[in-house]
Amino acid sequence: MGRENSMMGKAMRVCVLAGMVVVAIAPLAAQQPAPQPAPPAAHHWAIQVHGGAGVIERSALGPQASAAYRASLTQAAEAGAKVLDSGGSSLDAVEAAIKVLEDDPLFNAGRGAVFSAEGKNEMDSSIMDGSNLMAGAVAGVGRTRHPISLARAVMEKSPYVMMIGPGADAFGGRVGLEQVDPSFFFTESRWQNLVKQLQKDGRPVPPRPAGAPPPGPTVPVAQIDESAQSRRYGTVGAVALDRQGNIAAGTSTGGMQGKMPGRVGDSPIIGAGTYASNASCAVSATGSGEYFIRLGVAREICNLVQFKGMTLQQAADQVIHKELETLHGDGGVIALTPDGQLAWTFNTPGMFRARQREGGKLETGIYNDEP
Ligand code: ASP
Repeated sequence: MGRENSMMGKAMRVCVLAGMVVVAIAPLAAQQPAPQPAPPAAHHWAIQVHGGAGVIERSALGPQASAAYRASLTQAAEAGAKVLDSGGSSLDAVEAAIKVLEDDPLFNAGRGAVFSAEGKNEMDSSIMDGSNLMAGAVAGVGRTRHPISLARAVMEKSPYVMMIGPGADAFGGRVGLEQVDPSFFFTESRWQNLVKQLQKDGRPVPPRPAGAPPPGPTVPVAQIDESAQSRRYGTVGAVALDRQGNIAAGTSTGGMQGKMPGRVGDSPIIGAGTYASNASCAVSATGSGEYFIRLGVAREICNLVQFKGMTLQQAADQVIHKELETLHGDGGVIALTPDGQLAWTFNTPGMFRARQREGGKLETGIYNDEP
């Protein structure tokens, strides 16, 4: 008690002293503005999306299909841009853009995912927050409508980075993510392509999935895919930079058509198909997943930026056009940095892609002779 009192007395004396000092220096302070902390650097938001790389040629795709792809890519980029323009986070923008592409049967993710050799849709996805290196991923899921949201739930609502199969879907249900019958993901065009591929390879054709609609006419995408069936990767992805200067990346896929059940590609592998760190860059990849895993493509690009001082474009080109090609892998990436560098590159004839910077025009691209 006595000690407390004596401490209070000391504090009061200090206050009194401090008060005297303040009075003494107040006139000076009024004349010389106190230095203010620098305002946070204003970042201009940016977003890029992709819908897969591969043998995508003008002559095979045709103007109608090309316009359909561009419209979908535009819609996805706009969904992300809307989030960013209203001050939302890069993470929210990435998820919003990818959800649009997952719902679009043109792309190999969510509805429209390719089938495994057993006639099932086994989807993989991942997301990463460059501001804190948090990451989430799922593989072999088949009941959660938006695998990208499931990957995000793993990141934010579980102690894990990666979950697989029915356990991951069940977790999605528990945290309130929309669950659907597996037939939700069925599309006639993907089914017919699977049947053709299995017949060509002399492999058994599984029965038409339960709950699938009765066989109907093919949609135009079937004709497109037929022309380049085995060398088309329809994975989707997005990278974004928000006004706070944070970056994020995400990727979602049905994997490779006719894959052995249980096969997992690069898309849900942090560092291979997806990576984001505010210290370097954000990357989402598409291509022959096994090579992307072996090279750790996404992290490799960011390493070159972070530790070798390369520009983002140099780093992406080095990994895709030198390191990946040396292994005979193919595909591409979209990437961006917190300081606003944007890059995309691919060693295939095409990659479905779109991008927009704050205040700029939304651009789409498909072929390799476009900017
Ligand atoms: N990278 C994906 C995978 O290997 C395929 C794709 O990009 O479409 O599963």
